[in-house]
Amino acid sequence: MTAVAQDTAALKWLIEAGADEAVGDAPRNAFEESAKQTAKPSADASEKAKSQPAAATQKSRDDAAAPAKTPPRAATVPLDLESVEAAQASAKSLADGAATLAELAAAMQAFEGCALKHTAANLVFGDGNPDADIMFIGEAPGADEDREGKPFVGVSGKLLDRMIAAIGLDRTSAYITNILPWRPPGNRKPSPAEVASCLPFIARHITLVSPKILVLVGGTSTSNLLETSQGITRLRGRWKTYTGSGEDIPVMPIYHPAYLLRQPGLKREAWRDLLDIKERLTSAD
Ligand code: URA
Repeated sequence: MTAVAQDTAALKWLIEAGADEAVGDAPRNAFEESAKQTAKPSADASEKAKSQPAAATQKSRDDAAAPAKTPPRAATVPLDLESVEAAQASAKSLADGAATLAELAAAMQAFEGCALKHTAANLVFGDGNPDADIMFIGEAPGADEDREGKPFVGVSGKLLDRMIAAIGLDRTSAYITNILPWRPPGNRKPSPAEVASCLPFIARHITLVSPKILVLVGGTSTSNLLETSQGITRLRGRWKTYTGSGEDIPVMPIYHPAYLLRQPGLKREAWRDLLDIKERLTSAD
């Protein structure tokens, strides 16, 4: 058997066994890892377990969107400025050549500057009405979104739908996308390099949709599109301006629905922000 045939057979076997999703950037040899673990003194193992509970590595994308009290879970791709700049330049030239959303989606499919593309099942481009006055931008697809190829269709997506409904809108009157179109494996937080490499695409996406109001859902889209290191807790509820598309667009950062699911006490503040958005939207008509 050739190496390729061997790999193909191994992949088929894994898929038949139910392992149909990539959960890491690189393959892991779990047998080797557990052999090393058992060889280690147990005190060391329990220390490790204390500082890094197993559940923390398997949190959903939804959890990844929460404001960072502790440093965000480590992303596996280091920030290599030269390759980020090269990736960004490539993304920019592809994005600038897109005159329509369909062309932008095709340009993103053709982009080779972000490794997430190779572990994701689908490009998650956008959903809703591209002629809408309001555009919501989240972080990155999770497992449900990756499977369906649509943003915000999982648990936090259901809450986002309810938040949008609270201001009298739905996916026929709002447009929804993410700052990153591919799911980070294992639902880890996207690395700064991954986000930076893809920024020209979201900038073009905003230009093409040209909304009257932008709503940045959670800390990742807020900090990257407003180019600030301030956290979502400080920024939510305050109108800002996005200038990246040539015209000034009013921006409201809001809590990510995944965070609200874990901190329901914050729904009152989120509700206030939604009312503010509704008022601005009505006066923008
Ligand atoms: N979280 C996001 O930020 N985006 C999605 O599409 C789903 C969950």
